[in-house]
Amino acid sequence: MNTTGRLYYLDSYLLEFTARVTAFAEMDDQRFAVTLDETAFYPTGGGQPSDTGTLESSTGVARVVECIDAGSEGVLHVIEGEPPQTGARVAGRIDWPRRFEHLQQHTAQHILSQAFIKLYDAETHGFRIMERWSEIDVRLENPSAERIRQATQLANEIVWENRPVRVRLVTAEEAARMSLRKAPQREGVLRIVEIEGFDTNACGGTHARATGEVGVIFARSWERAKGMTRIEFVAGTRALKDYDIVNETAHRIAASFSVGRDEIEQSTLRLTDEHKELSRRLRALEATLIEAEAEELIRQINPGLNERRIVARIFDRRDHESLKQLAQMLIQRPQTIVLLASTDGGAARLVFARSPDIQADMNLLMREACQELNGRGGGRPDMAQGGGQANSTTLTQTLKLITERLNAN
Ligand SMILES: [Zn+2]
Repeated sequence: MNTTGRLYYLDSYLLEFTARVTAFAEMDDQRFAVTLDETAFYPTGGGQPSDTGTLESSTGVARVVECIDAGSEGVLHVIEGEPPQTGARVAGRIDWPRRFEHLQQHTAQHILSQAFIKLYDAETHGFRIMERWSEIDVRLENPSAERIRQATQLANEIVWENRPVRVRLVTAEEAARMSLRKAPQREGVLRIVEIEGFDTNACGGTHARATGEVGVIFARSWERAKGMTRIEFVAGTRALKDYDIVNETAHRIAASFSVGRDEIEQSTLRLTDEHKELSRRLRALEATLIEAEAEELIRQINPGLNERRIVARIFDRRDHESLKQLAQMLIQRPQTIVLLASTDGGAARLVFARSPDIQADMNLLMREACQELNGRGGGRPDMAQGGGQANSTTLTQTLKLITERLNAN
């Protein structure tokens, strides 16, 4: 670990500093960046996004919009605005709300990761601070809401005990004698972060001075992902923001029901029950309606050749399910063949069916009809459905063709 000039390593609360510009360069993406002989800006790394802030020199103030870790070359401060000259003295200032929010999430991760080890011997294998929440991937067997609730409960107790968080630099030999949560990934000097009496780990991030500054830790949700349990959590200021959003949403839903915030679950359940009952009644009404419709259609059509009735009808915008129900109702009458169709824009839907006392093959007739309409369809000998492209004129011609085919047999 190269600790030279990285002021944030020993003090996460150092927000203002002065430094000298060592280099100025245009990056591959046409943005400009400067390096400094020392810096308090934390660069993106270890799952934590970088700091932002300003660099002020005699030529003006530049915004630091991102910081990138360039290893032994130092930290690249990506800037917008008037760039300082190489060799110039600059006054750096870190955006505190962003730094504080990130150090709360990061310290929360140390506490939560150790809580999962203490309770379930479940190691953390990934950590990311996202836009609104953070994620940790924990090797937790049999995850459940209760197990995760117990881990966050323990983590919050550690937060509220306000334990000191200490940072020190040690050699690899010294580190080897310590019991670290995770084997260090780096060689040479290591930065050790210790939460008194709870967790010791090598880490390069920014942390709270004491656990109390984390405020609160809350697990929003969890899921199984790549053999791990992925837990979404919020801490401190983010937990407050998240609660604010959830509370506002709950109040809006409550207002739409004209009830209090805490009664929305009851109201939703009532609405779901009502919806089920209405759907049941609607289906019953549809059945009655279709029965009457079938009756009327049969009354209009006299039996034709061989005492058979062919009911051919074209409807406007009627769905497959409704066509099928009507067909099923009609073929309960003896010696009945049903050719139903519907147009919807340029699309056509077809349902052919026959009563059991007739031999005609509806599957075969449907394939023929669909070929006429450049569509697809099929089914059983007694009932088939399909679709294609047609307006009412082409559909009428197709049904006429199928009727002729039936009458020819
Ligand atoms: Zn850390």
